[in-house]
Amino acid sequence: MTQQQEAPPPPVIKTAEEIAIMREAGLIVAEALQAMREAVRPGISTLELDKIAETVIRDHGATPAFLNYAPGNHPPYPATITASINNELVHGIPSAKRILKEGDIISLDTACFHKDFVGDAAFTIGVGKIHPMAQRLIDHCEKALWAAIEASVAGNRVSDVARATEKYAHKHGYGVALEYTGHGVGRKMHESPQVPNWWPSGRRLRRNQIQHEDYMLKPGMTYAIEPMLIAGRNELAELEDGWTVVTKDKSLCAHCEHTVAITDGKPLILTLP
Ligand code: MG
Repeated sequence: MTQQQEAPPPPVIKTAEEIAIMREAGLIVAEALQAMREAVRPGISTLELDKIAETVIRDHGATPAFLNYAPGNHPPYPATITASINNELVHGIPSAKRILKEGDIISLDTACFHKDFVGDAAFTIGVGKIHPMAQRLIDHCEKALWAAIEASVAGNRVSDVARATEKYAHKHGYGVALEYTGHGVGRKMHESPQVPNWWPSGRRLRRNQIQHEDYMLKPGMTYAIEPMLIAGRNELAELEDGWTVVTKDKSLCAHCEHTVAITDGKPLILTLP
């Protein structure tokens, strides 16, 4: 799940023991995502996918982290996953009425609490046979995530991670979501730092547009990176349900996410199967 703009306190540095627990949480999330990946097909409802993920999470003795989550003015979130179809970018609410069709693309995102720590991850997948341009969008979203993961090394800053996503997306002709960000993960689902998909530069920086705290990355920091790539204009709207975020021009968009831990070397990808 993404975070909206707000100013959180400094990042919490986790111990090796805490990161080991977060890896367990990440593996539960990975298993839930994999179970949904195998179930995606024309004719299945997003509520059925939700139940698949919830079953995996509860079978491990973990708790769905999205369920009843209610930040800011949002109503309590009613499900285990977010299921965002086609021009829905993030936070689509599962429903028995939302039946997947051949050619759709869907972003599936879930998180759990396990031994008081959170794992959070997402992917976008095609339903049946999809248009090559839709597949291209999904593939580049994944590659943008890997570019941002590569930038997640001690001594870099949050802005290096954000710019890695932005640079990759722009190079391939996609916009990124401006108003939603990745986020620190730990005992809470949304901690510091915010990890945007972009970083202001030039005119935007001079105008002081959306300034995030540019923390230096240190071993023990744990955060979720979540590229949100948009094929059309990056103007977004929130639907009346108080959650679902869509592109105003109805263009396709993709979202993927891993939770990572900063180390002395390469980052640990806590939600990688
Ligand atoms: Mg998230």
